[in-house]
Amino acid sequence: MEKYDVIIIGSGLGGLLCGYILGKEGFRVCILEKQGQPGGNLQTFKRHGYKFETGVHYVGALGAGQTLSRYWKYFNLLDELELQQLDPDCFDKIAFGDHEFPLAQGFDNFTTQLLYHFPGGKDAINQYLCKIRDVVAAFPLYNLELPKDHREYHYTSQSAVTMINQQFNGILSASGISLGDVVAGNNYLYGGSSVTPLHVSSLINHSFISGSYRIIGGSDQVSRSLVQSVTAFGGTVITRREVVAIEQQNQHFFLKTKQGDLYLSNILISDIHPAATLAMMPSEMVRPAYQKRIASLQNTAPSFILYIGLKHGSFPYLNYNYYFHAGMDVWSEASATADHWPGMFLLSTACHKKGQEFAETLTIMSYMPYDEFKSWENTRVGKRGLDYEEFKQEKANKLLDLVFAKFPQLRTSIEHIEISTPLTYRDYTGTEEGSLYGIQKNFEEPLLTTVMPKTKIPNFYFTGQNTNLHGVLGVTIGSVVTCGEILGLEYLMKKINHA
Ligand SMILES: Cc1cc2nc3c(=O)[nH]c(=O)nc-3n(C[C@H](O)[C@H](O)[C@H](O)COP(=O)(O)OP(=O)(O)OC[C@H]3O[C@@H](n4cnc5c(N)ncnc54)[C@H](O)[C@@H]3O)c2cc1C
Repeated sequence: MEKYDVIIIGSGLGGLLCGYILGKEGFRVCILEKQGQPGGNLQTFKRHGYKFETGVHYVGALGAGQTLSRYWKYFNLLDELELQQLDPDCFDKIAFGDHEFPLAQGFDNFTTQLLYHFPGGKDAINQYLCKIRDVVAAFPLYNLELPKDHREYHYTSQSAVTMINQQFNGILSASGISLGDVVAGNNYLYGGSSVTPLHVSSLINHSFISGSYRIIGGSDQVSRSLVQSVTAFGGTVITRREVVAIEQQNQHFFLKTKQGDLYLSNILISDIHPAATLAMMPSEMVRPAYQKRIASLQNTAPSFILYIGLKHGSFPYLNYNYYFHAGMDVWSEASATADHWPGMFLLSTACHKKGQEFAETLTIMSYMPYDEFKSWENTRVGKRGLDYEEFKQEKANKLLDLVFAKFPQLRTSIEHIEISTPLTYRDYTGTEEGSLYGIQKNFEEPLLTTVMPKTKIPNFYFTGQNTNLHGVLGVTIGSVVTCGEILGLEYLMKKINHA
């Protein structure tokens, strides 16, 4: 039995970053990953010679001196990555029918670009930007500062929909589209719904307005670099090891894997869903009320995704993301019933090299209720049966019909399509019911739906998208919060700020 100072379950971004921090501080770290490739949502995959992203299409606040780049300097990631900044005047194009609107980078430019379409919206846009700046200021770790007055609680219990609708009430474009819907038009980024807290939408929008980037060549470079660093610090990342049972005896954790081996550690960090983690522990280890609360938490909606390999030189590389809305309320799209599906799609071309004129691959995403695929939930990848394949294809055709209406040239540009359903995500990344971003934070119950990294079980911690906030920036900051519980946050932030 191998003994470590720290074992981390799951090699998603959160697990790898915790491994980096603690490894650098001299802890002997072991990361156990159930898949063959580390990285979780940072994984990429190849089919028919095309390389696709699993779960990172663009990243916010990665410009010089911006929040993520300051954190990633500490993680030694900046020198390793080549970045493509998205179009400064339009990183996200928001479309309602034939009407298209730009969301631009830079706070002044964000206003300028929207004013072309909403000439009467200046005050409302400026007030909106002030508000999201206020929210970000209340979260000191987003400014690489230590938490002090806990003003953040003020915003975790406010509604994103209410703020945006009140702010832009009655401001319409000449074509009759509401400015509030345009500003919320990329809310797929956070699974926007009627319960989304204000801080979730504000922190995420602030980061992308500050600076939006694609990682040229794929986000697997992030996980590769982190695995190399963890190994260089004396740690180890072991793939194809699915943790199935956790016990604690004499202040040591004992972990059993599906492959039959045992691991021992003093400290345990879980980068996987808290409900799945607690389900692996014997009942005497977890207080029943806590177990019940975690098991009852809702998850963000899952998705249906098309990965498209394109014929050479047939479809332009788009230096922005395209969010199309079929007409329903942008905050209800995740719960669209089958007869109104798809209510939206996000189309994103991947960046394979700087200055590329044509796209090699693109991804089309839309929400998909888990229940649609529930009848196959006891099946595994590649063995779900013909009826599943047919149903999946039927859904893909329906989604493509909507996409072709907007991008007619795509019809003749497709060389290869891969289709993924909520079950695909569940089985490849281990997210509950294939949920996009894990636990749904709810402004009506902020404390109940927030999972703290430190638990009542001594030396056991959570990290990853289910704790702080999902997304690359949220998970990065979350890893610092988790490791701050072990090392002392003040000590760790000093190291990060002096990197
Ligand atoms: C479709 C999609 C698009 C996205 N797009 C973006 C984007 O453009 N920008 C952005 O910033 N964010 C995006 N995100 C969100 C972002 O990818 C995630 O929030 C983040 O990567 C989650 O990291 P994590 O550390 O929480 O773990 P995860 O990535 O969930 O990784 C958890 C790991 O644990 C492993 N695991 C699970 N169970 C076990 C077990 N029992 N034993 C061992 N290992 C186990 C899994 O295999 C996995 O590798 C997207 C997500 C999705 C799904």
